[in-house]
Amino acid sequence: MSGDRVYDLLEGIVGEGNVSREPHILECYARDSTTNPPSQPDYVAMATRVEQIQELVRLANREGVPLVPVVGMSSTGGLTIPVEGGIVVDLHKMDRIIEINEDIDYAVIEPGVTIGRLDAELKKRGYWVSLPVGPPGSAGLVPGYILHGYGHLGGKFGINSEQITGMEVVMPDGELVRLGGCAVSPYWFHRTPIPDLMGLILGWQGTTGIVTKLGINIYPRPGFKDMVGWGMFTPHEEPLPESSARFLMKVARLGLAHDISGHSWGAVQIGRGLKYPLPPKPREEPELYFSATLYGFSREELAMKKKILESLVREGIEEGLPVACTDVTERVKVEMPTRYALKYSDHRGGGGLDYIGSITPIINWPQGIKRLNEIFDRHGFTPYIRLAIYRGTLQGMMRALMPYNRGDEKDVEAVRKIAREVVQVVLDCGGLVYKAPSFACEEMWKRGDPNFLELMRRVKQTLDPKRIMNPGRLAL
Ligand SMILES: Cc1cc2nc3c(=O)[nH]c(=O)nc-3n(C[C@H](O)[C@H](O)[C@H](O)COP(=O)(O)OP(=O)(O)OC[C@H]3O[C@@H](n4cnc5c(N)ncnc54)[C@H](O)[C@@H]3O)c2cc1C
Repeated sequence: MSGDRVYDLLEGIVGEGNVSREPHILECYARDSTTNPPSQPDYVAMATRVEQIQELVRLANREGVPLVPVVGMSSTGGLTIPVEGGIVVDLHKMDRIIEINEDIDYAVIEPGVTIGRLDAELKKRGYWVSLPVGPPGSAGLVPGYILHGYGHLGGKFGINSEQITGMEVVMPDGELVRLGGCAVSPYWFHRTPIPDLMGLILGWQGTTGIVTKLGINIYPRPGFKDMVGWGMFTPHEEPLPESSARFLMKVARLGLAHDISGHSWGAVQIGRGLKYPLPPKPREEPELYFSATLYGFSREELAMKKKILESLVREGIEEGLPVACTDVTERVKVEMPTRYALKYSDHRGGGGLDYIGSITPIINWPQGIKRLNEIFDRHGFTPYIRLAIYRGTLQGMMRALMPYNRGDEKDVEAVRKIAREVVQVVLDCGGLVYKAPSFACEEMWKRGDPNFLELMRRVKQTLDPKRIMNPGRLAL
């Protein structure tokens, strides 16, 4: 007996060696890479079985102690910081790939399965899934999918949460529930036509339940890949004219590419390995670089896609757009694993990375990117902007990345300001902040339908009346 009742109860649930209240361990769970203020949990418990999670949730209810589920803690946005202390439930030991169904093309995984592990397993079988393009391979796949994350097949299959086929969840009262077709069928293949209750979990940042199994679409892995790249030779003050945004929309409508991404000049230089501080941009280099990643199951299919896309770029040039073909072989490859993202994460040294990501209509990117450039310039930071187009409608990710030095208070303060200003730009562009830190949620709700906020509060109150699940998130 340790003399600490909650600690002893936790040890009784997860077993000796799987619980800690050591300050140096707790400190590892107190922060992420962002400028969101750190806060230590009181305990960390490593679950290995679903029944343990149910017991932990029941304990948290009885004791009135908050619970924060985590896997890789890489989701930038302060989402795993236990702002009210309590118990961090570390799920990384729950890492079984439960099923890979090659007759219906889906996989069922536990929350601790890492991006790298699933990718390696699927590769052996000639499959893949839409992988988040930047995080370390040690990050969890499940948290990214349930947070509406973005993957390298987003241009073809849409946002990752659209590719979820089934779910098992421990609800805030400890009950275990299946959602989607797997609630009725032995297969985890589809979430409709029955009522789609996954909306109670998706995007809720771990505040309405702990996902213990996730079904996701898997896709045959094409053997052939190519890229088409083009640059926007535009002034810094007008980085993406409306005509160029319309050109991107034209490319997106073709539906040929698995990924269409854009990067500001600064982001590309980091990818090329240039060290901080970056030199001023040479006039002859593009303000924005775009690339379309094409895959095919045969050389002929790939060649056909490439030909169509290249002729579209040529047409754009002939029509007078500030566009020119670029060689993409040397620069960012939007493919897993990409070392590029890790390069920019530590570009200024000191290991800090903040970002505000959004889903925003492409037609509003011109005003958005222009204002993002202004914000970065005003604060003396190189603009690191990343764009990606999602399948379906003409919208996509407009993201401002802010590598900063954690040891430099001036850097920290500047990035806090930049992040808040970026949120306003996103909202002014009709966009939605994704994986939103609480301060960004507050801004969204201020501008949103009050009845939407009220309904969210009622759902949360109904599911989690004791407010034990990841409190402080979503500004609820
Ligand atoms: C350099 C860099 C690049 C990145 N690029 C991308 C990208 O391209 N696309 C993308 O989508 N993301 C990206 N990310 C964000 C993040 O790494 C991924 O989304 C990753 O999949 C998150 O997994 P994680 O294990 O780190 O989640 P965590 O940070 O541990 O958890 C994220 C959230 O989910 C909740 N949660 C965790 N497990 C559960 C569960 N089982 N049930 C319910 N809630 C749970 C947590 O409480 C928290 O709110 C990037 C991050 C970095 C640092």
